This record gives sequence, C-alpha cells and structure tokens, in this order.
Amino acid sequence: MSDVVLTGDRPTGQLHLGHYFGTLANRVALQGVHPMYVLIADYQVITDRDTPGEIQRNITELLLDYLAVGLDPRQVTIFQHSAVPELNQLLLPFLSLVSVAELSRNPTVKDEIAHSSQSAVSGLMFTYPVHQAADILFCKGTLVPVGKDQLPHLEVTRLVARRFNERYGQVFPEPQAMMGASPMLRGLDGGKMSKSRGNAITLAATEDETAALIRKARTDADRLITFDEEHRPEVANLLTLAGLCLGRPPQEIAEEIGDGGAVTLKRVVTDAVNDFLAPIRKRRREHGEADAREVLAEGNERARERAIATLDEVRAAMGF
Ligand code: ATP
Ligand code: MG
Repeated sequence: MSDVVLTGDRPTGQLHLGHYFGTLANRVALQGVHPMYVLIADYQVITDRDTPGEIQRNITELLLDYLAVGLDPRQVTIFQHSAVPELNQLLLPFLSLVSVAELSRNPTVKDEIAHSSQSAVSGLMFTYPVHQAADILFCKGTLVPVGKDQLPHLEVTRLVARRFNERYGQVFPEPQAMMGASPMLRGLDGGKMSKSRGNAITLAATEDETAALIRKARTDADRLITFDEEHRPEVANLLTLAGLCLGRPPQEIAEEIGDGGAVTLKRVVTDAVNDFLAPIRKRRREHGEADAREVLAEGNERARERAIATLDEVRAAMGF
C-alpha cells in the first residue's frame, strides 16, 4: 500500500531553521512521490494563548514560507483546520478512546504548559494531541515528517487508530513518524528553536537581521573552538547550525576555525546560514498574498472532500 503523508504547523509566526531541518526538507523530498497533505493548524493556536492573535497575517506568512521552500501546491494539498469541519468532528469519537491519565502523561504537553502564556491550563491543551490524531487520520496518513517534540503525539495517534479499529473494525492505518536531519534544533538561547519563544532564525529574516541575531547568541571565552555538546552546548549549537547549512560535520568546521574564537565562529555561522537561505528568501519575494490565498482555497476544498469521505466511513463503522 502506498504511503499518504500528513504534517503541519501552527500559524503562530514565521517558519525557522528548526522547521526546515526538522520537517520541511522531508516534505519537499516526499512531494510528488506520495500524496501529501499539509495542515495549517489554526485551531491549535489557542492551545497555549487566549486568542488567535494576528491569525490571518500568520496564515499568509506560513503559506509564503511553504512556497519559498519549494512546496508545490499542484502536488500538495495545503489546508486549514477551521475550513474542514468534518475533520474536527473526528475529535469526538477519538476522545472517547483515550484516558485522562494517558493525556496527562504527555511530555511535550508538559513542556508546552511550562512555556505557555496562559494563566490556567485549558482543556484544549490536554486534548490537542487527540485533535492531532484527527488531523493525521482524516486522510489515513501513514507517514508524518515531524520534529522530535511530536513523537509523543504520534503515539497518541497510533493508540487512537488501534483502539478505533479494535472497537469498530479496521478503518485506520497506524502512522509512522519520519525524523529530519535535525529532529530538535536548538535556538539561540539553547532551548528548542520555536516560533513563539523569540529564539529562532526565521527563513524570511534579512541577512542583516540574521547577522544581528547570531551576534547576540551566547558563547564562551575559550578561543579554541571545539565541538563538545556536553561541556560547550552554546558553541556546539552554533557549529550544528553551520554544519546543517553547509552539509558538513560540525567537528570539521570547528577544526577549521581553530583558535579563531567566537568572532570567527559567528562569522562562519552567519555566512553559512545566509548563503543557505538566499534562494529560499529570493523565492519568497516572488510570491504575494494573492497566490497564498488561492493555494489555500484550493487546498481547503480538496481536504474537505477527503474528510467527508472518512467521516462517513467512521459513522458507518460506529453504527450511527
Ligand atoms: P510554536 O512555538 O508556536 O509552537 P514551533 O516552532 O514549535 O512553534 P510548530 O508549528 O509547533 O512550530 O511545529 C511545526 C513542526 O515543526 C513540527 O513537526 C515540529 O516538530 C517541527 N519543529 C518545530 N520546531 C522544531 C525544532 N526546533 N527542531 C526540529 N523540528 C521542529
Ligand atoms: Mg510547537
């Protein structure tokens, strides 16, 4: 049986290098090989904040980032949660398949609660991994290119699929995660690079903005540059960034810099990142808001057809 690829992002800001090496590169490699759905998870924006904020603008930015990295809307269905009510309806039966104890054990949810701007933890925060099961299973996704933070959620999806099939008969596949070259890229503060934590190098940033961000990154006083993730995590992280962009081992880059110190290190990293992102940034400037909206309107329609078919099958299996 051929694979179906499903993955997505929250429209909470511009995409960054963590997305690129965690998932976007795999999406581009898989498009045209398998049917692919890319979800703009607009409802999930309100998991860790009170309101959706600048949602329309963020959706446009996300679409421009997709086009910039080379996702081809003729080969990929790009759509949003709020335009596909049938997908969202799958949440109801799926919630009945998991226990509260299973939901509260999720380590990614725990980490996100720690970084949340909300004063109280909402019900959506605990249950969004089940919503994500609906995202993946509405199109019977089998392959999910994601970063490491998503692995616990994918286990929830597999559990939901397995239990649904046990109770109601075989309907869903059990999907597999697909990790990228860097399943957990760190940001300039050493934590997970995230759109909403202010520690990211975005794909759309200018060369000068990129240089300024890297200049502010923490390093240490030792002039001899070495790749030592345990004892020199900040330096190692910068070398990792350069290595990913240059397609070379970070140890090799460290040896070349030798005793050049943090100034040389940061220059090497800045050049590597800016050179790597140059074609992506150029392509981003070639697209406008109108292109983005058209891509989404077409994708929403295709995704909705798929969701209606799956919801019909689910209702029939459950005897409704
Ligand atoms: P937010 O801070 O708003 O949650 P985010 O940067 O975590 O934003 P998401 O939209 O939550 O981005 O994640 C989209 C996809 O990108 C997921 O598959 C996730 O695993 C992957 N991803 C996000 N950050 C990283 C990272 N630092 N390294 C590798 N993959 C990442
Ligand atoms: Mg996230």
